[in-house]
Amino acid sequence: MSSSSPTPDQATPAPSRQRTESARPVMAGPTAGAPGDRSRCCDRCGQAPADPMQQILMSAVWLVAGPAGPIQACYCRACPPDAAITDLTCLRCGDGPLLAGELAADPHGQLPAPAQEWLLAAGWRLDGPLCPGCQPRQTR
Ligand SMILES: [Zn+2]
Ligand SMILES: [Zn+2]
Repeated sequence: MSSSSPTPDQATPAPSRQRTESARPVMAGPTAGAPGDRSRCCDRCGQAPADPMQQILMSAVWLVAGPAGPIQACYCRACPPDAAITDLTCLRCGDGPLLAGELAADPHGQLPAPAQEWLLAAGWRLDGPLCPGCQPRQTR
C-alpha cells in the first residue's frame, strides 16, 4: 500500500522552502534576547535601544559636563541634550564624541578647557584632531 514512498524527487522543493524559513528565527534570535551584549541604556530615560536605528544613535558617545568634570554618556533618540553640540570627529576615522552644553566649542571653534583636558587625558591629539586609535606612533 505504501509503495508510493520512493519518490524523493518530488520532495525536494519542500526542503528548500524549509531552509529559508529556518533562517528567519536565527536572524531574529540575537535581537530578541541578547543577554548583556552591549546593553547600553539611555542615560536620561534608561531605555535600551529598541531597534537598529536606535542602536546606531546610541552608539554615539556624548561628553557632557558632570559634577566632577566631563563624563561620557549615551542618549536615545528622544533624549539628546538640548544644548550646543560640537561633533568632534577624528581626521582619519571620523569617530569622536559629541561635546554638549558647557563642553561644546565656542563660535570660534575653541574647545573649553575641561573638554580639552578630558580629551587629552583620553589620548586625543587636538591638533588634528586625531583620536587615540589613529595617532601616529611616537618614534622618539
Ligand atoms: Zn532616552
Ligand atoms: Zn580616529
